[in-house]
This record gives sequence, C-alpha cells and structure tokens, in this order.
Amino acid sequence: MPAKQSMMYEGKAKKVFLTEDPTLVIVEYKDDATAFNGQKKAQIAGKGELNNKIASVFFRMLQTKGIPTHYVDTLSDREMLVKKVSIVPLEVVVRNIAAGSLAQRLGWEEGRVLPKTVVEFYYKSDELGDPLVNTSHIDVLELATHEQLVQIEELGRQINIHLKSFLADKNLLLVDFKLEFGVDEEGNLLLADEISPDTCRFWDADTKEKLDKDRFRRDLGSVEEAYEEILRRLGGFTL
Ligand code: ADP
Ligand code: UDP
Repeated sequence: MPAKQSMMYEGKAKKVFLTEDPTLVIVEYKDDATAFNGQKKAQIAGKGELNNKIASVFFRMLQTKGIPTHYVDTLSDREMLVKKVSIVPLEVVVRNIAAGSLAQRLGWEEGRVLPKTVVEFYYKSDELGDPLVNTSHIDVLELATHEQLVQIEELGRQINIHLKSFLADKNLLLVDFKLEFGVDEEGNLLLADEISPDTCRFWDADTKEKLDKDRFRRDLGSVEEAYEEILRRLGGFTL
C-alpha cells in the first residue's frame, strides 16, 4: 500500500492525500454533510465509512462492465486508493425520474418518470453556486473539449444503464445522480470522485421511501439508517 503523504485538498465531504506514487492519491471519506452550497452543515455518524464502502461496491461493479474509473482499491473503512486525475470542472447529472432542481425547473411533480434520460452539466464553482451550463458555455469557459464532452455524456448514459439495473435487483429506484470525470497522466478520461447516497437519489421501489441525502436536506431523520440500508441491500462490503 503506498504511504499517505501530505493533504492535497480538503473538500466538504472528503480529504485527498498525495502518496509516494505520484499517479495515486488516497481519498478519505468524512462524516461531514453539507447541503444548499454549504449553508447547511452537520456531522452524520458513520457516513464516511458507509459512503466509502458503497462507492467501492459501485466502482467495482462498473469496472466489471468496462467503465474506466479512478478506483484502485479500498484501503480501510474510510480510505480509498484512486488514480490521481485532473478533474474536469463539471458536475454531470443524469436523471430518470423528476426530483429536486429538475422538478422545480420544469414544474413537474417529484416522482414523474422522465420519458427519456436527461443529462445536465453544472459548472463546478462554489463562488457561483454550481450553475447549470450548456455546451456553448462549456466551450467559452474551456471546461472541456467537444470530444471530451461527447465522451462524458456517453459514459454518463452507460453508467446510468448499469447502475439502474444493478439497483433494480435490490428493489431500488435510481432517481438521479451526479458524476465527476477526470483525466489521468496518460490522458485517459476516467470516472472519478464518488457514487454514494450523498450524490445519488435512491428510492425504495415499492414504498418510494427516500434512502439518500434528501433525508438530510429535508430534515426527514434517520439519515445514517438510510445509508446503512443501502449498503445492506448492496450485500455489504468487507475489506
Ligand atoms: P467538494 O470539493 O465539492 O467539497 P469533496 O469533499 O467530495 O467535494 O472533495 C473531494 C475533491 O476531490 C473534489 O473536489 C473532487 O473533484 C476531487 N477528486 C475526486 N476524485 C479525484 C481524483 N481521482 N484525483 C484528484 N481529485 C479528485
Ligand atoms: N448532486 C450532487 N452534488 C451537488 C448537486 C447535486 O451530488 O452539488 C446530486 C444530487 O444528490 C442528486 C442529483 O445530483 O442526486 C441532482 O441534484 P439536483 O440538481 O436535483 O439538486 P438538489 O435539489 O439536490 O440540490
């Protein structure tokens, strides 16, 4: 296991550490939870460990499907070894069911099944509050090349197909989720960051019970229990 060195970055939910191998970083998942662009903050006991394990299950599954990801190994309860990438400053949101900001934007009730998959891009900028951007905006801001964007959208759609069917087997609906991509040293575009109840909406397929960060955003209670239920349905994760 490459030794952990200095902290490269501390975000709202994770810390990123350099290692003795310049191509690898260690991501440490924290218990901190934030919502509404950092305005709402709390600690959720056990969240870091649960998200690390849940993300490990998803990354491993996606790798078996041929999706290029940054995932290398799960090192401990909270630590994941990943390939170091230069992050494309876009949040790529893929949606199957109207919820959250899309329900507001289109005036559709939450829970309405979208007739087609919707893919959106948001500019990763805390100062601007992550605004929705279109391909012309991405072009003038030089956030990604046209070729990268085509590849990112296609990967987002493939990841959606794999995650949706994997979760359907666990009686879970994949409402929507956010992805981040990065470019490694060799110029490969990789799925990066995390896939967890912090970054996805998961609903029980029968009861439509929310089993994700909306429990925190909307003060529904039992946040940790919901994340535990997701890991349980995924079959758990042993180091
Ligand atoms: P935020 O920056 O939004 O507060 P986090 O707390 O999740 O988010 O911090 C993790 C940071 O690490 C994010 O900025 C994310 O883009 C970045 N990141 C994720 N995967 C990698 C990677 N493989 N290499 C470098 N940086 C990464
Ligand atoms: N999302 C995320 N990080 C963000 C914004 C959104 O992980 O900074 C995820 C969110 O969990 C949901 C999806 O992206 O699964 C769509 O979020 P939406 O645009 O509806 O925003 P919200 O109403 O959640 O702020």
